[in-house]
Amino acid sequence: MCYAIPGRLVEIKDKVGIVDYFGEKRRVLVDLTDAGIGDYVYAQGGILINRIPSEEAEEILGAWKELFSELKGIDEDLARVRGNCKSKNLPGILQKVNLNQELSKEDLRNLLRLETEDDLGLLYQTANNIRQKEHRNACCVHGIIEFSNYCRCNCLYCGIREDSKVKRYRMGVDEIIDAARYAALELKFKALVLQSGEDLWYDEDKLVTIVSKIREFQVLVFLSIGLRDGATYKRLFEAGARAALLRFETSNEGLFNNLRPGTKLEDRLELIKYLKGLGYIIATGFLIGLPQEREEDIINNILLTKSLKPDMYSFGPFISAEDTPLRNQKPVDQETILKTLAIARLADRNSKIIVTTAQETLHREARKKGLLSGANSLMINVTPRHYRKLYRIYDGRTEINKDTRDTIEETISLLYSLGRAPADLGV
Ligand code: SAH
Ligand code: SF4
Repeated sequence: MCYAIPGRLVEIKDKVGIVDYFGEKRRVLVDLTDAGIGDYVYAQGGILINRIPSEEAEEILGAWKELFSELKGIDEDLARVRGNCKSKNLPGILQKVNLNQELSKEDLRNLLRLETEDDLGLLYQTANNIRQKEHRNACCVHGIIEFSNYCRCNCLYCGIREDSKVKRYRMGVDEIIDAARYAALELKFKALVLQSGEDLWYDEDKLVTIVSKIREFQVLVFLSIGLRDGATYKRLFEAGARAALLRFETSNEGLFNNLRPGTKLEDRLELIKYLKGLGYIIATGFLIGLPQEREEDIINNILLTKSLKPDMYSFGPFISAEDTPLRNQKPVDQETILKTLAIARLADRNSKIIVTTAQETLHREARKKGLLSGANSLMINVTPRHYRKLYRIYDGRTEINKDTRDTIEETISLLYSLGRAPADLGV
């Protein structure tokens, strides 16, 4: 099993390399000092993360070659647009999409208001088609380790907020490294997200140790640890972290202030920009269906995400969590989630868009539907099983009881059925 297809480095200039995958050329940042032209390499998120021996690469590529073109055919076929439309605005908007023109805010609003099955079908198919054109059939599969549910914040929506009575756990430094070793070396993940509440028990030195050790397993280290000062993130970058997942949560400042007491939207946005400036791959986004959220907020959320020029969009439905002030709030409907996903794809064609686990928690077919509506990235929980149920940011998480290997197998067969290769084909 493999989560990334090796490619061959055919060119390097000023740390930017060109990697060839079965004739498709992708640009990557060369983050290794010892990589040279002709080497076989793995890339994640557009960063070259390791070199592999040519015999090993040729064996893997031999197994992939036929499968890859077969999958490509399935994907191309599924991405063909075959619908009729009813809305009077839709043809004009789709024409703009086909001509690669920028969509206006009004266009996004009209798309979000689509209702009939035919129109929605056309929206999703067009988003899938654009995803196929821009990214081909690659789909990144990242692992996530939720290493602590202690949090100093009190976000009203979150089940592990400081005031929640959830039983707390905190993985030790070595325990985190061991979990990452297993995910990287046994399960073969090439990118690992390290996520936690804002837990200052992990000081800078502990985080540096964790990151630098995990980087030795030749994976892309993705941080999702909330607000820390810029100097800490800089040291972690130097230690080998290359990606950060930090959602701004909502573009509506009033809502933000109510829901995230003691923190400011502006600070979060500044941090995201700073991290991008440091060279981090950025995943950001928002929650959908927060109480008092308006249609306008969803549009603004998509536009704000786009303006931050992230490498990856990460948004998901708000789901209530027991023992929080929002415990009785109903979740948003699946149609709104899928529309948001498809609109994000049309608004920002090149982005990677993830189907988040919250989407999967609400709807059994969320992965499949999301991947057919513009998404091209997935996450698999690789947290040691006994901790998963304690990382209760929202209720009803589905994936926590499953064996990771079973989840991997299900994921791979879903991807194959949709013609996707569980790979990261650079940028
Ligand atoms: N503490 C860090 C990372 C962990 S929380 C941070 O806040 O950035 C990761 C994400 O979980 C948050 O960005 C938030 O969007 C999401 N989240 C929190 N509570 C949620 C809920 N009730 N429903 C859905 N997503 C939630
Ligand atoms: Fe803490 Fe993140 Fe939850 Fe907010 S969303 S309470 S920062 S874990």
